[in-house]
Amino acid sequence: MAAHSFSTAEKIKKISVKALSRIKTSGLSAIPEIYEVWYVYYAKSNGDVTKSIDILESKGIEITDEQCLEIHRLFLSEHKETDQVRAAGERIQETIKDVTGAVADIQQATSRFGSSLAGVTGHLSADMSREEIEAALKNIVSETGEMLAVNQALAEQLNKSTQAMAVLQQDMEVVRKEAFTDGLTGLLNRKAFDAELDRIAMQSGEEGQTFSLIMMDIDYFKGFNDNFGHQVGDQVLRLVARALVDGVKGRDVAARYGGEEFAVILPETPLEGGMKVANYLRKAVEGKDIINRTSGERLGKITLSGGVAQYVPGEDLAELVERADSALYTAKHNGRNQIAAAPTPGQKKAMA
Ligand code: GH3
Ligand code: MG
Ligand code: MG
Repeated sequence: MAAHSFSTAEKIKKISVKALSRIKTSGLSAIPEIYEVWYVYYAKSNGDVTKSIDILESKGIEITDEQCLEIHRLFLSEHKETDQVRAAGERIQETIKDVTGAVADIQQATSRFGSSLAGVTGHLSADMSREEIEAALKNIVSETGEMLAVNQALAEQLNKSTQAMAVLQQDMEVVRKEAFTDGLTGLLNRKAFDAELDRIAMQSGEEGQTFSLIMMDIDYFKGFNDNFGHQVGDQVLRLVARALVDGVKGRDVAARYGGEEFAVILPETPLEGGMKVANYLRKAVEGKDIINRTSGERLGKITLSGGVAQYVPGEDLAELVERADSALYTAKHNGRNQIAAAPTPGQKKAMA
């Protein structure tokens, strides 16, 4: 019995129920966006949503539909782009209606039971005959039985609805994941990278932290592709991706930025740390032998060049990428298989 190993479906179900009861107790509208905000909040899957709600609550501000929609617009709307996600959202809305309906039915049935029970017990008194007491008790037993039957039917309905919702939620998570994943390497794709960069920059601003960005590009990859073919090239891209994933940790984010260019975001990491990680990744790739999977032939080594830039608070993110990219260009220019550090914008100005 492993009580701690809940299945994913069970976890999702628990979170769904929390989100729904929150919507109900706070008198919010049961529409997909609001449901999503609370789902994400209880799943603790989006730091910005958690923070926004915690701030509102710590100030004792009652959270309204409008605030939920604003939180959704700010932190969740960019994720809702595919038709599949929208369709799943609509199905969830239907299910929410069922569930909230069932909850209301249970409440109504319970209070009806309460008052009828009160009616029966009110008629009980010490000077009743044995027959009268028996009749009253029978009445209570039958009322209770009826109540239990109603409750069980409603509980079953509720259970079915939440199960359906858990499945939908899982579908939605799969679709969402696909929309942000690079099909070839399994890394985050460009779109996800942009979103993560925004998120991490905002977070580091709030926490008074800095972060670093590494841009890396495979050296002489065109030649490699031309010699060994596109499929072997694809195999190399996967190998590099694996090395990046294995070489970073925790909150670090690795993405495929474009063709054979990769990006790594390192939260809470200044330039020196960024340089260390970049060199570690470079060496990890250099250390691998490329072997043609079909023929077993050894194809030699591949190398990476990289540029690292440390975020300057308030800096435009396009400029940060541009600085890391131009450091990458410097590394290429200086002979490849090396990492260069980007000067800060101030230094660049000073040198110009
Ligand atoms: P440099 O050292 O200056 O980076 O040289 P390079 O040959 O790597 O650079 P260039 O930009 O000229 O070539 C990039 C090549 O990457 C072009 C293309 O053959 C290859 N490439 C880009 N995307 C993919 C992909 O998805 N799969 C494969 N197999 N190759 C790709
Ligand atoms: Mg290249
Ligand atoms: Mg390139």
